[in-house]
Amino acid sequence: MQALFNAFSLAICQEKCRACSEELKVDLVGFLSGPKRWREHNRTTLCESCFFKLELEPSLLKIVNIEDMAPLLVASRLPYHGPLKKMLYHLKYDDDRLVTEDLSIFLDQALDDLSKMARVKDCILVPVPLHWQRMVKRGFNQAELLAKPVAYKNDIRIDTRLLARTRATTTQHQLKKQERKDNVKGAFQANRKYCDGQHIILVDDLLTSGATLAACAGALLDSGALSVNAITLAYARADKGGPLPKK
Ligand SMILES: [Zn+2]
Repeated sequence: MQALFNAFSLAICQEKCRACSEELKVDLVGFLSGPKRWREHNRTTLCESCFFKLELEPSLLKIVNIEDMAPLLVASRLPYHGPLKKMLYHLKYDDDRLVTEDLSIFLDQALDDLSKMARVKDCILVPVPLHWQRMVKRGFNQAELLAKPVAYKNDIRIDTRLLARTRATTTQHQLKKQERKDNVKGAFQANRKYCDGQHIILVDDLLTSGATLAACAGALLDSGALSVNAITLAYARADKGGPLPKK
């Protein structure tokens, strides 16, 4: 149904590629071959050229081990620059939720990378929560939007009741190393009722130092989670453009 909606939305609205502004060509006749097949060959917010540019980007699989914080394995699919940076900006600051359809393809690839080193089967996907004030302001949690198609495709449960951000925090990438740790310390609270005895995969849009994910993992493990790892769509690289501007 989503694919059908996207196909007609593209045809009617003359959508443009969010990365290079090229007008997207829509193969509506190809839709007759079935929504799944159509989805494999048509992007809703990215042109073929930008999509393949992203496909060639290197992925990252690393253990985040910050002193005094819970260690965890993180798989991240794309360096944070170029077309991806523009798309995340559209999502977070222009309320362009359609981009999650295309971006979640890459988050799914991160889950595949994680599965080579860690448990994925029977895990619960937990999007890193926003503080309620940020949630009210933005109207959605981008990590949750990105996680939904991945959960659906892999038949994994997604649950937002396990974790809450109980303290508002400053944007991590603008802080120094120690400040990042202090910023997220005690900012998350896990719900033992839902996470006791569970294997959990955290989901976020961007990995910087990993302090946010480590703080989440600490809260979940303290409340009885058996294991916590993470996937993120993008990872920040100091040599590739830096953080999102504040808005
Ligand atoms: Zn493009």
